Amino acid sequence: MAERYDVLVIGAGPAGLAAASAAAAHGARVGLVDAQPRAGGQVWRHDVQHGVPALARRHAAAALENSNVTWLPQTRVVAAEAGGLLAEDAQRARHLEYGTLILATGARELLLPFPGWTLPGVTGAGGLQALAKQGWPLAGKRVVVAGSGPLLLATAASARRHGARVLAMFEQADRGTMIRFARGLWRWPARVVQAASLRAQLAGVPYRWGSVVTAAHGDDGLREVEVEEPHGRTRVACDYLAAGYGLVPNVELARMLGCRLESEGAHAHVCVDANQRTSVSNVYAVGETCGVGGRDSALIEGAIAGLAATGTTAGMARLQRRRRHARAFATHLREHFALAPHIRALAQPETLICRCEDVPLRALDGFADAREAKLATRCGMGPCQGRICGAALAEMGRFSFGSQRPPLFPARLETLASSMTEVAEPAT
Ligand SMILES: Cc1cc2nc3c(=O)[nH]c(=O)nc-3n(C[C@H](O)[C@H](O)[C@H](O)COP(=O)(O)OP(=O)(O)OC[C@H]3O[C@@H](n4cnc5c(N)ncnc54)[C@H](O)[C@@H]3O)c2cc1C
Repeated sequence: MAERYDVLVIGAGPAGLAAASAAAAHGARVGLVDAQPRAGGQVWRHDVQHGVPALARRHAAAALENSNVTWLPQTRVVAAEAGGLLAEDAQRARHLEYGTLILATGARELLLPFPGWTLPGVTGAGGLQALAKQGWPLAGKRVVVAGSGPLLLATAASARRHGARVLAMFEQADRGTMIRFARGLWRWPARVVQAASLRAQLAGVPYRWGSVVTAAHGDDGLREVEVEEPHGRTRVACDYLAAGYGLVPNVELARMLGCRLESEGAHAHVCVDANQRTSVSNVYAVGETCGVGGRDSALIEGAIAGLAATGTTAGMARLQRRRRHARAFATHLREHFALAPHIRALAQPETLICRCEDVPLRALDGFADAREAKLATRCGMGPCQGRICGAALAEMGRFSFGSQRPPLFPARLETLASSMTEVAEPAT
């Protein structure tokens, strides 16, 4: 039996929450879906020790406490089907139909392979933050944070708040670039305050620029990391390495629905107009799926789409102005945290690239085409469906996995069989 909503929002991070509350406030019957048990997305992931910030509670309440909103937690959209979307929760398949669809599926971390990156104790930067928030014991553990971008500061601060000894943060961007980045921040005073507050929480933790973790060593688990710094190589003994090189928009569902995508560097984002409309009628996209922009642009874009989906124009022009300002910050970030080329070449021939299917880099030599490489090696065909290795290979300039076949995530056979129509073929 299909459930029908005037507005169906996929993703309950800042963008999805803002979209749901704006649409519901203007009378729409809204379905709000998220794979996670709690709303908040990545930035407002529930912290078992510290809860979530007041701003997150306000936005969650505005959406979830509105009687026009039906909240569908732990529900994952796995495919498009004729007339709607196929999803599943812990118990059953769900067939979701909509008048308007708003995609707020966010972003994931860009993890780049290097020798030792699959050792226990090595995680993504956001990955370690998520573990800490979910109660993974970090008290007293020695943590190194590495990679690029502001997520390093947020991760280090979270780890410290959970009792870890953060030994150092290694940022690949060099000193000159970081100084230019800081000088340009005056246009976003709230960001200056945020960065200063994070840095204050990390008093005493060295923040080394132009520095890259080139290898992780250990037997059954991480023992130490090797770091290339401007003045030479060092080794740091640690229990955890949290390494992340930025974010990649989650465009798989949009791609499956046939929305036009645009590439920015090695990765694609969904193209939208000033009202967040995609190239497919009645489908909007908001937040990180439209290009990594951070929490503020996610909130503004969600509100724009929620208003547009209900035909509301009041307040729209002001939101669009605010959106331009917030997106300009994303451009500022992107320009200053661009990855140095040698970071894409850290993997050695024996380094695993596809961790799901145990495929080393050397097994991919000689394939210019992702399809051939997949068929011959099973690279990208494991449970993560190429989300990790696909983004890494694209960043490394090897090849891009391109089209998206259903299901988007591993799903129960019963769910797939329940589809009232054949699941839609991927748009190529
Ligand atoms: C691991 C990680 C940690 C981060 N930590 C911070 C931080 O500490 N501070 C900060 O300022 N920024 C952080 N960010 C950046 C963050 O992405 C944005 O600031 C903000 O969360 C973007 O909001 P959003 O609503 O666009 O997407 P998100 O917050 O990513 O929300 C997207 C939601 O969509 C859901 N979803 C996706 N696909 C499906 C599907 N098929 N079916 C059902 N649900 C689906 C996801 O479960 C998720 O809850 C982090 C990003 C990542 C990837």
